[in-house]
Amino acid sequence: MKTDYLYFNSYIGSQKPENITNPDTACPFCDRNSLVDILAQDGDIILLKNKYPVLEDTVQTVLIETASCDSELSLYPKQHLYRVLRFGVEHWLAMEKDPAFASVIFYKNHGPFSGGTIRHPHMQIVGLHHIDYRRHIKPEYFIGEIIDEKRGVRLNLSTLPRIGFFEFNIVGKTLDQLEQTADYIQMTAHYMLNHFHRRCKSYNLFFYHINNSVSIKLTPRFITSPLFIGYNLPQLPSRLLDVVAEIRKIYC
Ligand SMILES: [Zn+2]
Repeated sequence: MKTDYLYFNSYIGSQKPENITNPDTACPFCDRNSLVDILAQDGDIILLKNKYPVLEDTVQTVLIETASCDSELSLYPKQHLYRVLRFGVEHWLAMEKDPAFASVIFYKNHGPFSGGTIRHPHMQIVGLHHIDYRRHIKPEYFIGEIIDEKRGVRLNLSTLPRIGFFEFNIVGKTLDQLEQTADYIQMTAHYMLNHFHRRCKSYNLFFYHINNSVSIKLTPRFITSPLFIGYNLPQLPSRLLDVVAEIRKIYC
């Protein structure tokens, strides 16, 4: 396989504000009047160009999910949740149609271990000019123990995870049933931040568009295992089935 490296511009990276661990840094997404390069808007949901495009050979956009700085996807009223997901998916799929991109990634970071730098709820849609992320994604990454299934959308917990421990997947008719998909995203985020582990304050949400269907992965974030960093060894936890049973008990 050809190696795909994304080039990170360290100079731009050093200018980026950070307010997850530095609460004194003013939130750039709350200062609505100074937002520039707005690409689309639906009420208080805004898509704009990333002011700090650290990834070379890409087009980076930011989707500000709400005007409320301290809110979180797991807390949105249903109608707002559906609007955010519909808006995000629409713009992601539209960007994919642009022949300037080999592929487009759509993801969210939340919390200090997620890789994010701004607390304000947001997602990112990034067009990659020369890298096709799909070459790195195997179908088995989305296979798992079924937690719940409604309207052709399935929520499962990976039994063949990419990196390991807990990776929740949403598969099936995710695009046809966006509201059901949004319900599962919200339920999983809420579970991770409230019931999963008392130290869990971070998660990632990733979207994948492969072979005409959209799959989604949510994963709680802690320090990444050294066995994966050093040896590429994914790990499976012994309490995997307990977590499946616990989510069913709380939410289903
Ligand atoms: Zn804010």
